Amino acid sequence: MRLLRTIAELRDVLAPHRHETIGLVPTMGALHDGHASLVRAARAEADLVVASLFVNPAQFGAESDLNGYPRDESRDATIAEAEGVDVLFVPSAEEMYPSGFQTWVDVEQLGASLEGAHRPGHFRGVATICLKLFNIVRPERAYFGQKDAQQVAVLRRMIRDLDLEVELRVLPTVRDADGLALSSRNARLSPEERERALSLPRALATKDAQQARELLRDLDVDYVEVADFEPRVLAAAVRVGDTRLIDNVILEGDTE
Ligand code: AMP
Repeated sequence: MRLLRTIAELRDVLAPHRHETIGLVPTMGALHDGHASLVRAARAEADLVVASLFVNPAQFGAESDLNGYPRDESRDATIAEAEGVDVLFVPSAEEMYPSGFQTWVDVEQLGASLEGAHRPGHFRGVATICLKLFNIVRPERAYFGQKDAQQVAVLRRMIRDLDLEVELRVLPTVRDADGLALSSRNARLSPEERERALSLPRALATKDAQQARELLRDLDVDYVEVADFEPRVLAAAVRVGDTRLIDNVILEGDTE
């Protein structure tokens, strides 16, 4: 596996592979089995698998957990290599947002609801970094998790609106045995908080917004809503102590 930190190096390394199928897995690191499932899907379909590790400052708000976001590059590199990543791209914030940077992608309505309403600017940061990664890597396919259903909806809209050629692949949410969706943020939960957090998957499993709100009444809820994404989901965001968790279940079809 090659670990590269600059856009120029990455372009040089990819140049001889342009006739091959390139799969891209964007991540913010702190890799877990959810990320691994994306890498495995990419590995099964692509000749060359590129993964990125970048804690994107632009998608974190002012009072955010950017500084506390878990970072362990050498652990992530070991996992990425074991899962079959060929090229791990680990740019600095300055590499992605050099001084003078001022061009942003704003998926206006989709990016302003639900998560966007609670995290203003979040999806502008997500869309912009993903467009940059798509332009740098030029993958045939990019792999995302259903766990972040609104992220997928925003990116699909961007791909349509801006006529991008990348194809999105969306993989099912990977959960722990107790039902909690894997997330880098779970590590911050105390055992007692984790127990309380389990009402999130339990509430969503009802697939009914009203019942879910009832089951979540003891948590600090940001939203519990049916969202008309493709597919339609029941999505929720809650705070357990200082940790904010999001999750969703698909309401139609049986992709999960
Ligand atoms: P993150 O590092 O949190 O930005 O996530 C990187 C990618 O992994 C995104 O496409 C997420 O949707 C996906 N992902 C995160 N958690 C899970 C999970 N539990 N199951 C499946 N995919 C996930």
